[in-house]
Amino acid sequence: MKLYSPATIKDIRERYGFRLTKSLGQNFLTDKNIIDNIIEASNIGENDLVIEIGPGIGVITKEAAAKAGSVIAVEIDKNLIPILQETLADETNVKIINRDILKTDLTAVIEEEKKNFPQMESVRIIGNLPYYITTPIIMKLLEDGVPADSITVMMQKEVADRIKAAPGNKERGALSVAVQYYCQVVKVTDVPKEVFVPAPKVDSTVLRLDIRKEKPVELKDDKLFFKAVKSGFAQRRKTLLNSLASGTGLGKDKIGQILEEAGIDPGRRAETLDIDEFAKIANGMFEMNL
Ligand code: SAM
Repeated sequence: MKLYSPATIKDIRERYGFRLTKSLGQNFLTDKNIIDNIIEASNIGENDLVIEIGPGIGVITKEAAAKAGSVIAVEIDKNLIPILQETLADETNVKIINRDILKTDLTAVIEEEKKNFPQMESVRIIGNLPYYITTPIIMKLLEDGVPADSITVMMQKEVADRIKAAPGNKERGALSVAVQYYCQVVKVTDVPKEVFVPAPKVDSTVLRLDIRKEKPVELKDDKLFFKAVKSGFAQRRKTLLNSLASGTGLGKDKIGQILEEAGIDPGRRAETLDIDEFAKIANGMFEMNL
């Protein structure tokens, strides 16, 4: 029986008395092509450490183990641990950690693994994410500065559309600017809901986030950049002048001056701005506070 077939999930449910927990976003993949898409897009080499978020019954883990030097899979559901120990019994390079990814210090996990795996070259994060925490997971990985090269993950299509939205796209928001500041975003494939057991309500997309070695803009203060982005999008229908003036608390006069010096029309909406323009505003705020 193939690990990714619906019959295997049924068999596991029966043998282990395993119950799917909806609130943990347990929608298991049953399509080998999609598993292969995720593995191929993540460019795993034999000197790479793969960290998988939410292995479920191990369908992606098994394929990653065949390519990587080492795999660490972080799964919150303790009922899945004995199942993973069975399904991955032949994979000697896999470690399973029973923990909440949002409470896991991956930088420390990677440092620890380097002791066992000194030839480690790259760290690739992969997974079919639990959808209830897609954004917190991605933002935690990026804000913590986890030393990974890429994050190749499946998520609900609507979140993927927001993450990859370019300036001028109506889906563009603070999430797009934040993720694009840290990463180059590559769309891998769209995934229909029918390939999961149970089927989720929405379609999905696999994205690869290539973490930038160098930031795309020079910032005088990172916090001001994120403050400008958050304020700009806080009241989407308002003009940049109004949303920034109230969001930053700097008032219209100062914001007007900053926008003028940056050469940005104060009547524009936040979703039309690129990262460089937000950086100009943030650096203008920095100068103004001096
Ligand atoms: N990788 C498997 C697959 O593709 O079939 C399962 C993917 S399922 C969408 C999400 C997995 O993440 C589940 O196994 C779930 O138990 C696990 N999970 C949910 N919340 C988690 C958390 N906070 N930390 C780690 N794993 C979590």
